[in-house]
Amino acid sequence: MGEIQRDALALAFYRAVVLDEYLRARPCWYAANVDGNLNCEGRIIASHIVKRRRVENFLSEQLPEGPLPVPLMGDESDNDLIPDEYDVDLLLQAAWDPRNGVPGCQAHDDRLDGHRMPPLVIPRHKLPPATIEFCEDWGLEYELERRFAI
Ligand SMILES: [Zn+2]
Repeated sequence: MGEIQRDALALAFYRAVVLDEYLRARPCWYAANVDGNLNCEGRIIASHIVKRRRVENFLSEQLPEGPLPVPLMGDESDNDLIPDEYDVDLLLQAAWDPRNGVPGCQAHDDRLDGHRMPPLVIPRHKLPPATIEFCEDWGLEYELERRFAI
């Protein structure tokens, strides 16, 4: 995995997830959508709903069998995002897929991670439709069942 490519994808993820059209940080998605009984704290970060390590671990288990099909990235107008060849590291692409991100403050993100207890519970019907699509495209439906089947 190239470091430069990883950094570029991480930056693109941050810009797509956190920044609005005026390059200001959007408000915490969790505060507006999840009743976590928790006040926001810290700066807004690009928070992975399905944790990045889970995405990476899941896909790295699949990759020895051969490359995964390149998923559709959003609607037809985004088709130029799909590489013609398998020259993009699919694992990186999945790890930084902005459909799996929401703007979140440090406090809410820590709860989602389980770094702080109790863990934040997101009812499945509250998940952004793009995140459900992300899980379906990358074969991560099990994560939806495991983590958000409420
Ligand atoms: Zn928050």
